[in-house]
Amino acid sequence: MQQVLELRASNAHRWMACPGQPRAVTDMVDTAGGAADLGTVAHALLETMLRLDLPADEIDRYADKAILKKIGNRDASHILVDDEMMKGVSHALDYVRGYLAVHKKAKFDIECTLDATPFVGYTSGGTGDVMLLDLPRELVLVDYKNGVQHVEHEDNKQLLIYGLGALNKYSKEIKPDTKFRFTIVQPNSRKGGAPVRESVYTYEQLMLFAAEAADAAKAAHRKNAPRVAGDHCTFCRAAGSCKTLAERAVAVASLEFADIGADMTLRDPLSLRPQDIAKVMDSASMLKNWITAVEGEATKRMLGGKKIPGYKLVGSITHRKWDDIDKVTMLTKKLATVDLFEELAPRVILSPSRMEKRLGRKRDGMPTLLGKLLKRITHGTAQPRVAPEDDTRKPYVVGQEFGG
Ligand code: SF4
Repeated sequence: MQQVLELRASNAHRWMACPGQPRAVTDMVDTAGGAADLGTVAHALLETMLRLDLPADEIDRYADKAILKKIGNRDASHILVDDEMMKGVSHALDYVRGYLAVHKKAKFDIECTLDATPFVGYTSGGTGDVMLLDLPRELVLVDYKNGVQHVEHEDNKQLLIYGLGALNKYSKEIKPDTKFRFTIVQPNSRKGGAPVRESVYTYEQLMLFAAEAADAAKAAHRKNAPRVAGDHCTFCRAAGSCKTLAERAVAVASLEFADIGADMTLRDPLSLRPQDIAKVMDSASMLKNWITAVEGEATKRMLGGKKIPGYKLVGSITHRKWDDIDKVTMLTKKLATVDLFEELAPRVILSPSRMEKRLGRKRDGMPTLLGKLLKRITHGTAQPRVAPEDDTRKPYVVGQEFGG
């Protein structure tokens, strides 16, 4: 029986560029971390607001509804909806509502399962955030991105696979002159630029992409499908153990840097010519990705009890914070004779270290209140970090991640 490979839309830029990738990640657990979890909660908030038809200016009242208890089998109750997320989701809401206000006959669909299998030839697809259906004139696929890593809207393979799924789902209402509008809403991109970016495809263009995706899926299913390294390796689950990426990183380093430092001795940046700096910068992201992936793999193995010679796991530094802002605020309002909030907006209560300094002053301190507040300080969860064996920090122990 042929092995079922993972050809998800969100991963399409990877399996379409590296035929060996789907097989390389088979049986590897998806360890997508913090940023992905934040994205999941942001999408839950968007879904809540749209399903309940709630106005964007009331988003803060409904933020709690989006907090998920679990993501997969992991606890997610600590992932809070912050101001930035609310602002981002409001952008997506404004776009959707603005479209529906102009296109009165349009309908919408949320969190839609889009199965592109009939076009790709193998199981493939994903879940589209919002579909705006003004058919047969136009089908709009809105993809909200909560993260800061800039997502290109042109030739976005994830959206194109969704487009094939949409073509499959709404085939009866789609005509040869239907336009497919792919919209990315990403207000928090670190590259800046327009928060809403769109590309429009015709039916024929989508069909050309379908042929390309079908060829890539076929190539991925071939025995010994080759691995091909490139920018798409970022966040590939196999990156930490991928020989192809490792060899490519070393080849890039030795080729590109050969005339900068013949013996690969790292030179002082001050001594580099502008063209040398450009060469290093061009290869920097691939090398960084590879090193990050190797560190991730080392962490995973050590958490699993394996030894990496010369290294150990330590806990990351955790910052002190208040265990319950409301209780701390009440306490200071009740007992303090001075204002203990930041002077400038947002007028939040002073952080533990600033509070300690303020209430610990010889001249006008308040030691009794300080003593009460110190009991309300807690630490975030320490994350495992790879460190040399002779690092003076205590080894990281699973189950004791909370700093004291
Ligand atoms: S790390 Fe890159 S080369 Fe290796 S399997 Fe993943 S995508 Fe392919």
